[in-house]
Amino acid sequence: MSRRSLSFRRGTGTADLLTRFRRPLVDARIRKYNVFPRPQIRKESQGYVGEMRLETVFTAADIQAAVARLAREIERDYRDKNPILLGVLKGCFVFMADLVRALNMPVEIEFISLSSYGPRRTQSTGRIEVVQGLRKPVRARHVLVVEDIIDTGVTLDFTLHYLRRRRPASVRVCALFDKTSRRKVPVSADYVGLTVPDCFLVGYGLDFDERFRHLPGLYCLKEDD
Ligand code: 5GP
Ligand code: MG
Repeated sequence: MSRRSLSFRRGTGTADLLTRFRRPLVDARIRKYNVFPRPQIRKESQGYVGEMRLETVFTAADIQAAVARLAREIERDYRDKNPILLGVLKGCFVFMADLVRALNMPVEIEFISLSSYGPRRTQSTGRIEVVQGLRKPVRARHVLVVEDIIDTGVTLDFTLHYLRRRRPASVRVCALFDKTSRRKVPVSADYVGLTVPDCFLVGYGLDFDERFRHLPGLYCLKEDD
């Protein structure tokens, strides 16, 4: 299935359902088919949402193992550096919360909010907006950028330029997911959790139209054939 087929025609897909019905009705429909996975529900891998399917890419256990490994690598390099972990919202919020709790060392937390996706899009627009910038100086500080996923690299490239203008002592990048095959800008992370396939992913902080961020694993959102 090509990425293009994830764009929605009127009257055919989940996006259309979301616009035609009030959310409570959609939620009821989703619950009826038992596909709105709460943490205890194990069969979400075959879950259907409207006419879309979630296929498991990584389980919650796979992700937790990757987070623990990243934490050990970061501890090794930053133990005496009092780093600022700079999360790029919104997608990073779940990863950031798990990462700081996996780290056995003090860190400071900051967030910036960037946006490159309009509503109901599965492709980046390529234009980045700073929704909320840095609230404190990073000059002479060691900054570790915490990203949910690197796709084309446009967002990370923008973030790195944004930061370097502010003269930190060092900047490195920790990305939980890396869609290496889609890169358009030559950027890479210093710490990578898991390499992921070229597919629109949801779960563990990643959304489609603000849905699915709460899922504990990572899923590929597919349209039925
Ligand atoms: P890039 O600028 O590297 O193309 O994309 C970076 C941002 O796009 C990520 O931080 C993430 O917010 C979003 N993104 C990229 N790929 C996916 C994906 O497969 N699913 C979702 N939900 N968001 C993605
Ligand atoms: Mg992100």
